[in-house]
Amino acid sequence: MTSKIAHYQQVIIDTARRMANEQLVFGSWGNISLRLDAEKILITPSGIDYDKIQREDIVLIDQVGTILIGDHRPSSELPLHLAIYNERRDVHAIVHTHSIYATSFAIVRKRIPPVVEDLVQIVGGAVEVAEYALPGTDELARSALVALADRNAVLLANHGVVGVAAEITEALKICSLVEKTAQSIIFARLLGDVVELSQHDIKTMHTFYREKYGQR
Ligand code: 13P
Ligand code: ZN
Repeated sequence: MTSKIAHYQQVIIDTARRMANEQLVFGSWGNISLRLDAEKILITPSGIDYDKIQREDIVLIDQVGTILIGDHRPSSELPLHLAIYNERRDVHAIVHTHSIYATSFAIVRKRIPPVVEDLVQIVGGAVEVAEYALPGTDELARSALVALADRNAVLLANHGVVGVAAEITEALKICSLVEKTAQSIIFARLLGDVVELSQHDIKTMHTFYREKYGQR
């Protein structure tokens, strides 16, 4: 079990470095977790810069947030991560970012509309904005869950992005695609009106992505 934990701690470190290199987070903000099984979750520590973070800093907690292994306090967004795992059995990894373009939408509290193929395939529709609540609170966890619903990304008002997936590479990819789409929309609006995809086509593309896309 220890080597399995060490392996996944390293996976989180590698993902955190990619997240920082892609400029989806700055300093120590943002966080990542991974559900190992029904009673064990690995999560990044609170407030340690991504260029300093080490494998041993990743904290092992149980499903109610009790620390099992680790010398650091877990991410302050622990309530958000636990609430999502509790509600969404399909989710095994969560990535929370503070990227620039997506946060711009979050600041004006406007959803990212479903306008491009890759985003709707992976997210399953628009990226809605959760009702504002202070970071790290149970209230934020509740409002994020409502706005997330059965999709794979949500915006936190005046804050950032949360991407959820069955595995960690996918959760990071979701945050990258949310950011890319937010940037595209801001540029698109300089050129003309943004045209949303139909619910029918969104469903078709999301189902295709889940069931048929790529190498099987
Ligand atoms: P932590 O450093 O505690 O994970 O918090 C960062 C953050 O993004 C809070 O929303
Ligand atoms: Zn945050």
